Amino acid sequence: MAHLDQARRRELEEKVYAGERLTRADGEDLYACDDLAWLGRLAHHRRTVLNADRVMFNVNRHLNLTNVCRASCAYCSFQRKPGEKTAYTMRVEEAVAKALEMRDQKITELHIVNGLHPTLPWRYYPRMLRELKAALPEVSLKAFTATEVHWFEKISGLSADEILDELMDAGLESLTGGGAEIFDWEIRSQIVDHDTHWEDWSRIHRLAHAKGMRTPATMLYGHIEQPRHRVDHVLRLRELQDETGGFVVFIPLRYQHDVVDSADGVVRNRLQARTRMATPAESLKTFAVSRLLLDNVPHLKCFWVMHGLSLSQLSLYYGVDDLDGSVVEYKITHDADRYGTPSTMTREDLLQLIRDAGFRPVERTTRYEVVREYEPGPSLAQRRAEPQDVWS
Ligand code: SF4
Repeated sequence: MAHLDQARRRELEEKVYAGERLTRADGEDLYACDDLAWLGRLAHHRRTVLNADRVMFNVNRHLNLTNVCRASCAYCSFQRKPGEKTAYTMRVEEAVAKALEMRDQKITELHIVNGLHPTLPWRYYPRMLRELKAALPEVSLKAFTATEVHWFEKISGLSADEILDELMDAGLESLTGGGAEIFDWEIRSQIVDHDTHWEDWSRIHRLAHAKGMRTPATMLYGHIEQPRHRVDHVLRLRELQDETGGFVVFIPLRYQHDVVDSADGVVRNRLQARTRMATPAESLKTFAVSRLLLDNVPHLKCFWVMHGLSLSQLSLYYGVDDLDGSVVEYKITHDADRYGTPSTMTREDLLQLIRDAGFRPVERTTRYEVVREYEPGPSLAQRRAEPQDVWS
């Protein structure tokens, strides 16, 4: 097991407990350390200072309007090309009907990301938002990655400034945090097949923040990148956050293999042959180091669909204070991953998951405003007397 020497550990501990900003070298050293208990203790300290015993969650639905995409990113098995048997594009009425199915569960957010459809006209997107908002006026629309907004610039001839204005007028509350992957060009050039890179991704989020949006940011880890690329990714975001203050949450997303990707004879996820997935221990380390480095973004999210429920509970002791969400349908990786996680969790399921881990559940809005703060469960010690659920 790789460890840091005692003097370096003490130095890092002192910085963390004093609330000092960590450097690039600090981040790389933390990744070089395999002592998960130690990393967890430091990250849990930061998480507790920022968020006490609260774990936020929201009740949302993911919606992917089309899987047709002109790009073929090396890690992506969601993309389909026009004419493929499993390609789909939702009509506006169809998307509205799907969203309405959730009305009874009182969802507060629709989370919408899509392929870069080569022929759908720009008008489709604001029209879609308008119709969804008209059908579910109380629901926040969190939609489109910066990559999609960059694509809209190309197909509409409008600037991102004009596009965001029109989307906001149609009901957009927030962009999604996707399209970030790994910003460092050495890795990005090998995995991404479109031309939205750090410069455009940051330009579009900067613009969104200037218009009053609070946006998430993501990082795709556990493929061909090295820990130093993760550190670089987080430090770019930290610098941008110093400038705008508009990021509300950071979400490390675990790269996933796709066990049925080649079922139709087409291998879309081309990274599978080159890499294995991050282990659960590596995921916990990534959560912990991200929490410690990213001192100016208030929340750290574990997207439980990618990690399983037990690991998601454990991640709450490694810096995480936010669990996404009720989800309902997650096509990007979940259709084919077969990891045994459910694709939906009700509000009650999430409350129990969080309480069973020893935390206080807080339902939030898309902007991280509190909808309702719940009582925590009984202490873990008291629970020993009760029958327990086993979370897969
Ligand atoms: S990651 Fe997004 S842009 Fe890249 S191929 Fe998949 S759907 Fe298209």
